[in-house]
Parts: sequence; C-alpha cells; structure tokens
Amino acid sequence: MSERIINFSAGPAVLPEPVLSQAREDLWSLDGTGIGVMEHSHRGKAFLAVYEKTVALCRELASIPDNYKVLFLQGGASSQFFTIPMNFLAQDKTADYLITGSWSKKAIAEAKSFGTAHTASSSADKNFNYIPKEIKYSDTQTYVHFTSNNTIFGTEYASEPENPAGSFLVCDASSDIFSRPLDISKYGIVYAGAQKNLGPSGVTLVIIRDDLIEQGASDIPTMLQYRTHAENDSMFNTPPTFGIYIMGQVFSWIKDQGGLSAIQKLNQRKANKLYGYLDSSKLFQGTAEVDSRSMMNVTFVTGNEDLDKKFISEATAAGLDGLKGHRSVGGMRASIYNAFPEAGIDKLVEFMTAFEKSNG
Ligand SMILES: *Cc1c(COP(=O)(O)O)cnc(C)c1O
Repeated sequence: MSERIINFSAGPAVLPEPVLSQAREDLWSLDGTGIGVMEHSHRGKAFLAVYEKTVALCRELASIPDNYKVLFLQGGASSQFFTIPMNFLAQDKTADYLITGSWSKKAIAEAKSFGTAHTASSSADKNFNYIPKEIKYSDTQTYVHFTSNNTIFGTEYASEPENPAGSFLVCDASSDIFSRPLDISKYGIVYAGAQKNLGPSGVTLVIIRDDLIEQGASDIPTMLQYRTHAENDSMFNTPPTFGIYIMGQVFSWIKDQGGLSAIQKLNQRKANKLYGYLDSSKLFQGTAEVDSRSMMNVTFVTGNEDLDKKFISEATAAGLDGLKGHRSVGGMRASIYNAFPEAGIDKLVEFMTAFEKSNG
C-alpha cells in the first residue's frame, strides 16, 4: 500500500483515517451481511440501521432540539441556494443576505429570481478579507442568510449574527459545520455540503425547524419541498446511501474525539500554530483580518506572485499537497478541517520556516 501524503485540499478534503479503514471493510461486507454498504437496499434492515445511527449521532453531537429535522439531500450546498428562496421567499417578500464571499454571492444571486434579496452587509470593498460588523437589515419578515465560514477568503464568523424579530436565520455552514459547538435553536435552517467536514461529496446535511417545513411552498416540485424529505426520513427517493454511511462514521469519530467542544479546542490549537507562525514571519502574511480569521481555511501570501508559485511547487514536491489558493485570492490556502492532522501543520510550519530562510 502506498503512503498517504499531507492533503490541504479545500474540498473534497481529508477524512479521518479510522473512518477510511472501517469503510474499506464495510465496502466489502457491512456488519457481516455479505453485502457491501454501497450495495444494500436503502429500505433494508442493514442500511436503515446505518441511517438511524447517523441521525442519532448528529442530534447528539449538536444537541439538536426535538423540533428540528435532520435531512440528507442531494445537489450539494449549491442547490440549497435556490431551494431556500423557492420555499420561503414569495415574490412580494424580502430576504436579507450577508455577503462575505463567493458562496454568499452565489446564494443571493439565486434568491433574486424569487423575490427581493437585500444586501444587509458586505465585505466586498476589501476583497472579502473581513467579517463586517455593521448590518443594515431591511424590514424582512422572512429570513437572514449568512455563510459562517468563507472557504475561499479564509474568514469566519466568531458567532452567529442576530437576526430581526419575525425572521429566521439561515446558515450555509458547509466548511465549518461541527468544527465547534453551535446553538441550533438560534437557527431556522443550517445546511452543509458534506465534502469539507463531514464526508464525501454527494450528500448535503440540512437541519431545519419543523414549523418551516410546514410553511414551505407547496406549489413547487415535490423533490424541492422540505416536507417531502421530512415526511419520508430522507427516503422519498433513493438517498445518497454511501454519503450517509460515511457521515455517520465521521460523527462517530468526532464523538470519540470528545465531541464538538473538544474538536474546537483541537482546531484552535492547529490554527493558532499556523497563524502564530504567519504573525512572526517576515516573508509570509495572512490575508484575512486578524479578528475575522478562519479556523478551517488559512489564506496567506508572500506578496510576490512568483515566489508564491515557487513555494507551492516546492511544497507539492515535498508532499504538502493542495496549498494553491483559490484564483480569486491568489497565494496559498491551507485547509485544515476537523480531520486534518496536527502533525501536518507542524510539517507545513517547518517547511515554511526553511523556505523563508532560503528565500527571505
Ligand atoms: C464548498 C462550498 C459550497 C458549495 O458546495 P457544493 O456542495 O459543491 O454545492 C457552498 N458553500 C460553502 C461555504 C462552501 O465551502
């Protein structure tokens, strides 16, 4: 078996090693059934046990209140960008969007084809390198949408924004879900594509309050109504069974790490090591404002594009993969999600220190 290397990919991203080893066995035969996890009927006993375990662990980890449903949908986080306004934004209504990067821009663009989408705050003036403190809400009676972690720009909300009375809070938490505790009762909907912190691409976790499921539009396609999936335990049609299975294994791994508070401490320690080095470096600088820094995606530059390129190619050759920043920011990005090992950060810092010495 060939060695694994250090994977800083922004998504799909590194998964916990114990999850991968277990999956290798379960692909062949799940729980001694003689049938692999991908080959079981979603209506059969073996897969139903997987589904139930995944839901139960999800609820336990995030202390999800009883009046919320946990759904496993398809179409990625990007499909939630239009499904949410399609369900909750009538033509004569307004929703508020907090614009902190490419993903929130994509989300508001979809909302505009359903009703009025108001930009209540934006950090576009500084190429999204900060989380705006000032929010100017409309008189929305629908929802406020925000992106808790900006995967591309390396910024993250320290806590959830307060939404006006009469509205509900919607969060795209694709790249920081379950990296720290979150108070679900403050939200109407939390959604996340799985491929950063929860599992493989192809499954989207949606946590949604019961009254919203009831309120959602009913004159839209059946598959796009939350009630359809809520009433059928995400099995109105064939759900993404393998994704649900891996998510369950990842939840179980998070629980073994001590749950969300323990994972948060570990993530803080990992991120602090890297930011600490960046703050002391004379060659590298972080691109995000200090109070807006993401614990999941650390973006940095040397200030010289040629040197950035040299760094990325030498790092790749040294087995530090996936450090190239997104084209809209340039430079470098180290994605260090829950499953990213602390030893990988130590290797990166060591490599950067040596690079700085020979290129500084
Ligand atoms: C990756 C990402 C998305 C897009 O997810 P898909 O599942 O590919 O649609 C949306 N929002 C955020 C914050 C992301 O990081």
